[in-house]
Amino acid sequence: MSKFQPLKKISFIRSIYNKINPVSGTILMLHRVTERRSNIKDNRILEITPAFLEETIKNFLSLNYEFVDIDTAFRIQMQEYKISKPYICFTFDDGFKDNLMNAYPVFKKYNIPFTIFIATDFPDGNACIWWYQLDEILQNIDTIEFPDGTFYPCKTIEEKNHVFHLAGKIIKNTPKEYVKSYIDKIFEKNGSAKSKMPSDVVPLTWNEIKTLQETGLCTIGSHGVTHVPLSQLNDYSLSYELLHSRERIEEQTGHPVRHLAYPYGDFSPRVAEAARKCGYLSAVKVGGGLQRVRQDPFHFKREGLFQK
Ligand SMILES: [Zn+2]
Repeated sequence: MSKFQPLKKISFIRSIYNKINPVSGTILMLHRVTERRSNIKDNRILEITPAFLEETIKNFLSLNYEFVDIDTAFRIQMQEYKISKPYICFTFDDGFKDNLMNAYPVFKKYNIPFTIFIATDFPDGNACIWWYQLDEILQNIDTIEFPDGTFYPCKTIEEKNHVFHLAGKIIKNTPKEYVKSYIDKIFEKNGSAKSKMPSDVVPLTWNEIKTLQETGLCTIGSHGVTHVPLSQLNDYSLSYELLHSRERIEEQTGHPVRHLAYPYGDFSPRVAEAARKCGYLSAVKVGGGLQRVRQDPFHFKREGLFQK
């Protein structure tokens, strides 16, 4: 028996699977569009330049994709709406000002819809954007002291990336009410009385969110309130994140909020069920690849749009 037969079998099974579950489109995940990209790997992957965004759009246009908003993507997935070619749906997480300043002009130029999933603490001024605060402190020191008194070198870019990764792991496992004080302590221990962020990392205001929505090209979805991994929350906090964020956006924009992006892509069957009960129509994850027909709307996949 040829040793290549198992591979043949897998590709046969895959071709049957592809026939039964054809690709319907791609929901793209973006965060920031900026000229000034970070040297910290985990932040840099969240950033693309305006030129790269435009290049990407031109590529998809030349490949004859259909550009749809998240409502239409949902209807296509639910087989309530048919298109004759695969779709592309642009989505942003968090809610940074550069989405308006740098991304919107590109979308406007090509008349392409996009969605921003807002964590409502961003425009409310309460957000702890720890990943950019850490970025800021790491740029200015050669050794870092963590709140528990341990020291790590962070002179080279490899060391900075290592420290960022270590601190990120601790923060993601820290109860949300202690994250801000953990970051403040890092700044305190390393010679800065107040925690800071890179000057170009600025959340959208409610007025700017409203302006974006009024352009007719931008849909606003929810990304929770405090940008915390949802699966670790108790029932009360979970429904606060899901319901309060939705109500807050609706109150500010006057438009219904139907779609959710799980912060950090973190979810469980309990989280998905709670989102459904809170009235969302769909929720998008981080990663997972291409959308296929009959995809569970609370497990919508996304493909990160990354620039090298
Ligand atoms: Zn996020």
